[in-house]
Amino acid sequence: MQNHVGIIGAGIGGLAAAIRLASVGFRVTVLEKNERAGGKVGELREDGYRFDTGPTVFTMPELINELFLKAGKDPSEYFSFQSLEQSCRYFYEDGTTIDAYSDQRLFAEELAAKTGESKENVRHFLEKSKNLYDLTANVFVFNSIHDPKNVWNKDSLKALMHFHKLDAFKTMHEVNQKWFSSEKVVQLFDRYATYNGSSPYRAPGTLNIIPHLEHNMGVYFPVNGMYSIVEALQKLAESLDVEFLFNTPVERVEAGNKEVKKVIANNGEYRFDYVVNDSDVHYFYSNLLKDQKFLRKSLKPEKSSSAVIFLWGVMNSFSDLNLHNILFSEDYRSEFHHLFNRKLIYHDPTVYIFIGSKAVSGDAPLGSENWYVMINAPENTGQNWSKLINNARKNVVLKINRMLGIDIEQFIASERVICPVTIEENTSSWHGSLYGNSSNGKFAAFNRHPNFSKKYKNLFFTGGSVHPGGGIPLCLASAKIVEDKMKGR
Ligand SMILES: Cc1cc2nc3c(=O)[nH]c(=O)nc-3n(C[C@H](O)[C@H](O)[C@H](O)COP(=O)(O)OP(=O)(O)OC[C@H]3O[C@@H](n4cnc5c(N)ncnc54)[C@H](O)[C@@H]3O)c2cc1C
Repeated sequence: MQNHVGIIGAGIGGLAAAIRLASVGFRVTVLEKNERAGGKVGELREDGYRFDTGPTVFTMPELINELFLKAGKDPSEYFSFQSLEQSCRYFYEDGTTIDAYSDQRLFAEELAAKTGESKENVRHFLEKSKNLYDLTANVFVFNSIHDPKNVWNKDSLKALMHFHKLDAFKTMHEVNQKWFSSEKVVQLFDRYATYNGSSPYRAPGTLNIIPHLEHNMGVYFPVNGMYSIVEALQKLAESLDVEFLFNTPVERVEAGNKEVKKVIANNGEYRFDYVVNDSDVHYFYSNLLKDQKFLRKSLKPEKSSSAVIFLWGVMNSFSDLNLHNILFSEDYRSEFHHLFNRKLIYHDPTVYIFIGSKAVSGDAPLGSENWYVMINAPENTGQNWSKLINNARKNVVLKINRMLGIDIEQFIASERVICPVTIEENTSSWHGSLYGNSSNGKFAAFNRHPNFSKKYKNLFFTGGSVHPGGGIPLCLASAKIVEDKMKGR
């Protein structure tokens, strides 16, 4: 008889775990509280516009393809993506704009032309970023660091031998400041700390691995927008007979001394041989399993940042803007101080404008654009959000008008606002954090919850709040680790 796995949550980690486990012979049921799959990867259709409401930056598409190949299917029959020539257009208050080309040589030339930074220096930095990836990916990303068998294998010994190259005891900013002469280039590379909701002034220099993903491995975008990743994965899972129970919030998980016994949802009882949790691990231990010991442990590390996002239907098109655009804050250090120390939004925030309709023309009416305007926000610790959002909106509009030389307000035809509170309500993400724990500390990687429970032998964890961390590629990696641990049971 097939072993039956219950997966709590149909986020990216839950979907990937469902596909992997069904592919290796498990019977899989996914219990999802919402009416649709995706969790943080969401979409909104309104007034003729379609918005992706969560992730917008898509790297390592091969990890998605791997799921189809694993299931014996042709990825191109389910999902297609294009590579982008430019990952982002950066705007600075002094009028400088920088196009971040995916091609390393072009990018180095652009930085040299716009900032005076040496081309060779940029290329050496990106080579170093690749070396960091080569040294750490197998140890910290694609395998469990909590499994004793991985502690002394050849990859971890190699990483240990080259420990001095990992920059683990310096912050990202310290490394970048020392490496580059241009403050603009420092700020550009410091920004990659936000890819997992951290501060460059506190996250270890090892996170300089992230530019490798964009500038060496390339930036991509799904042909039908980010939510099409979810649709394709759900379709793949269904083709493997994965059962989805939507509108099914898990209320409680009951465990004996050593194993999970029951999952209670919609007033019904489910008994599974194995349970894989994809909901936020902090939420899981406080609301579903109610295990105080684990809760105290997972309470310690700081949560990642969250976001305030304005979704604007904009009745105009702007040729100076790209798919991904950043309007930098003038004082980056103060911005992060506000986010992580004061738990507030800075008055001059870095503004990220993502315009999906630049790539997917049907996402906005002809002559219009769908603007996703995001600023970094702190995790929700009970701030007065309506006041913070009102102030932020004024500052964002002023900054857009000032830096782009437009009057944006007159073109805004529709508006929706996403904030830490709504993110928490929709996905159960603790305090509305985007990426689980932050990486603000030398040992952050070791403080994430393992992909398995040391106490309950049939309980496993996937998704952005556990090892190896948040972001689509890491969630996909977490599902692979779960499969590795469960295979053959
Ligand atoms: C605004 C925003 C921007 C982001 N930008 C990027 C980006 O550009 N690139 C990138 O790679 N990543 C980005 N991320 C991060 C990325 O979206 C997440 O790391 C990833 O999607 C998390 O997936 P997950 O598997 O952890 O599940 P989640 O998406 O957290 O989903 C958990 C699922 O569990 C369900 N659930 C919760 N509680 C219960 C319950 N009691 N019963 C049943 N179901 C339950 C939820 O409804 C949800 O569907 C962004 C996130 C956000 C919010």
